[in-house]
Amino acid sequence: MLKKYARKKCIHVMLAYTGGCNGCDIDAVNCFLSPFYDAEQYNVFLTWNPREADILLVSGCVTKVMAEPLRKIYENIPEPKAVVSMGCCALKGGVYGNIGGDLGTSDFIDGPVDNILPVDVKVPGCPPRPEDIIDGIIKALPKVIEGD
Ligand code: SF4
Repeated sequence: MLKKYARKKCIHVMLAYTGGCNGCDIDAVNCFLSPFYDAEQYNVFLTWNPREADILLVSGCVTKVMAEPLRKIYENIPEPKAVVSMGCCALKGGVYGNIGGDLGTSDFIDGPVDNILPVDVKVPGCPPRPEDIIDGIIKALPKVIEGD
C-alpha cells in the first residue's frame, strides 16, 4: 500500500543508452533537468539505480555488447514496471539498422529493443521531441501505478 501511494507521488525513470548518437539521451535528460520541461517539478525523477526505478526509458539500437547489461537492468527493476523505447534506433535500428548485416542477422546489433525486452510504449523520432518523450512516460504510468 505504501509503495503504491509513494509511486503515485513519485516516479523514477531510468535512462539506458544502448548504442546510438546520444541525440535521444540529450532530449531525454532535457525532459527532466531543463528549466523549460522540468518533469521533476511533477515528482518524476531520473535515476541511475534500477532498484528504485519504475520506468525503463531505452535509447539506441542495442549493440551486442549492450544486450545483456540491458536485460540485467530490466531484471533489477521491481514490479510493476514499464519499458518505454524511444527513437528510431531503438524502434527499428534507425541509421544503424544495416550495420554488419540486416537487423536480426547483424554481427554487431541485437536490437531493436523489443527483440530484448517487452516494450510497453514506443516513441518514434530521430530524436523524438521532449514533449513526445514525456507523453510516452505518461502513457506508461497506468501500468506502473495501477499494474494495468
Ligand atoms: S534515433 Fe536518431 S537521435 Fe536517437 S540515437 Fe538514433 S540516430 Fe541518434
